[in-house]
Amino acid sequence: MINSIKDCVTLNNGVKMPWLGLGVWQVTRPDELDFAVKTALEAGYASIDTAAVYGNEEGVGKAVRESGIPREQLFITTKVWNGAQRKGYDAVLRAFEESRKALGLDYIDLYLIHWPVKGKYVEAWKALIKLYNDGLVRAIGVSNFLIHHLEEIINETGVVPAVNQVELHPWLNQSELVEYCKKHGIQVEAYSPLMNGHLREVAELNDIARKYGKTPAQIVLRWDLQRGIIVIPKSVHKERIIENSQIFDFNISEEDMQAINSLNRNKRFLPHPDNVNF
Ligand code: NDP
Repeated sequence: MINSIKDCVTLNNGVKMPWLGLGVWQVTRPDELDFAVKTALEAGYASIDTAAVYGNEEGVGKAVRESGIPREQLFITTKVWNGAQRKGYDAVLRAFEESRKALGLDYIDLYLIHWPVKGKYVEAWKALIKLYNDGLVRAIGVSNFLIHHLEEIINETGVVPAVNQVELHPWLNQSELVEYCKKHGIQVEAYSPLMNGHLREVAELNDIARKYGKTPAQIVLRWDLQRGIIVIPKSVHKERIIENSQIFDFNISEEDMQAINSLNRNKRFLPHPDNVNF
């Protein structure tokens, strides 16, 4: 039962990762970023999800340091971008070093391959394994990996990713991938859990939300938690950052869980991972 903002899931290497984190994609204005990260940390979030390509690692690192919260109480995720992946193994190692410097951290909690670049992601995975073995990162994982990508890196290296961060929301419930990951001990993390701002288009959530005295956003995030999925909603507004964290004090019934599951349309707002041409 997940009933506190401080609750964590234990990843397949024993590392504990919070169920809730703040996403900071598209938060590039320094004042806005600073406000969002500090507000989230004050509200009890312990996890921040950034990426080299978001261009805001420096700001995240600064806000985290200024919060005064001890480093070991925080969980920082960043990701290697496709450009470095295309250049190969050494470039991935260099990209990691750049991210670590920008964040101003001694170690990263979770380092992810951002997208599976065809013909390159096995090599990138080998670089992440080196970073892990060198003790520079507490856990390594992937993002936007389909089952065939996961199978390939596992078969090639024998190392199972700790996390797969994928687009996941009521219109893309990813049931098959979630089942595969559960079976193999890979923790699923939902990105764009609030459909990158399209949540209000899902009219069916309003009735369910009313029933629980919660908002549609809280219903969706709780639905994720009850499926055993980590969530990283993004907001730059204090009320919403707090709203998105008030998901630990209620339970959605099995019937309503099924009702939300049935909204699936296999609709993606981001590209299909087999078409990475960026
Ligand atoms: P989300 O699904 O989290 O939705 C964010 C949008 O919803 C914003 O427009 C935000 O507006 C709005 N919003 C936030 N809270 C609420 C609320 N309670 N009620 C109504 N609207 C709300 O979008 P993201 O696509 O940003 O995904 C979250 C995070 O996932 C990213 O920030 C990033 O860290 C990660 N991600 C990873 C990807 C990958 O390839 N690995 C790809 C995409 C995202 P406002 O800010 O104005 O409040």
